[in-house]
Amino acid sequence: MSSSPAVLMRLVASSFTIAEKAATIVRNVMSGGDLGIVEKSGVDDLQTKADRLAQQSICASLSRKFPKVTVIGEEELPSENVSEELIESGQNEEILKYPCPSQYDCIKEEELVVWVDPLDGTKEYTEGLLDHVTVLIGIAYEGKAIAGVINQPYYNYEAGKGAVLGRTIWGVLGIGAFGFQLKELPAEKHIVTTTRSHGNKLVNDCVTAMNPHSVIRVGGAGNKIIQLIEGKASAYVFASPGCKKWDTCAPEAILHAVGGKLTDMNGNAYQYHKDVKYMNSAGVLAALRNFDYYASHVPESVKQALK
Ligand code: AMP
Ligand code: MG
Ligand code: MG
Repeated sequence: MSSSPAVLMRLVASSFTIAEKAATIVRNVMSGGDLGIVEKSGVDDLQTKADRLAQQSICASLSRKFPKVTVIGEEELPSENVSEELIESGQNEEILKYPCPSQYDCIKEEELVVWVDPLDGTKEYTEGLLDHVTVLIGIAYEGKAIAGVINQPYYNYEAGKGAVLGRTIWGVLGIGAFGFQLKELPAEKHIVTTTRSHGNKLVNDCVTAMNPHSVIRVGGAGNKIIQLIEGKASAYVFASPGCKKWDTCAPEAILHAVGGKLTDMNGNAYQYHKDVKYMNSAGVLAALRNFDYYASHVPESVKQALK
């Protein structure tokens, strides 16, 4: 065994602290009152000052500490001239106490790809649905999502005075996931979570085909995975293009670390190599347990449409 922690564990430990810094930025921009909203590709594709500053902070902090890691962020921004006050150099010491799973012990820095969504759920952020918002840092090796950090900057924001605001969930395949209480719904309870702002007929038809007892419509890919691991929903069903690799990498790693499964609507795994296309064109299907029930209920028409 090497004497210093493996690069994967150091990267996760740094990502934890870097995500906390990003969460502070997200809260500060909101309390400052000027969101600086810009429309990107379409009507429901927004960017705020918080997306921009958080991405600069995360990407510059990671690149400074891990110069050979490939870091891919959602927002198209210049990476140079990032203000020093945005740089976070800390790391979570508790994470460093976990031994690196042996299959990842010898990974080299240049073999890792990090997918960054500095603010997932931007539309909800601008509408004041603050606990839908997450900061996502996903880590991939050989095309597979193997570790991730999800920070929820406004966790507990409605709990009142005394409650600690915000939390950070992290996970590594072969170790597990931490920072929340894992809860499973009974196998026969089918509660589907899906988009609230990017729906269409295919999305709705597919949700209906799952015969759900109820449907939870919330924003954010990170937020929907939290619904799964905390036993609020049993499946995440999104039969449409729209989610990108930075939306699914960290959530997928955390879900897989606790035995769940995330794929496209055809049941195929997504790849996270540095040169893959960003769009998850064949939708997102995820469940903590009983994945096969949901996969077997995807209509043939949906599979054909999203091939
Ligand atoms: P949602 O479930 O609608 O909150 O989407 C989860 C993530 O995928 C968010 O980051 C969205 O911005 C992104 N997304 C999903 N569908 C679309 C779309 N049609 N256009 C742009 N972004 C999308
Ligand atoms: Mg997103
Ligand atoms: Mg985003």
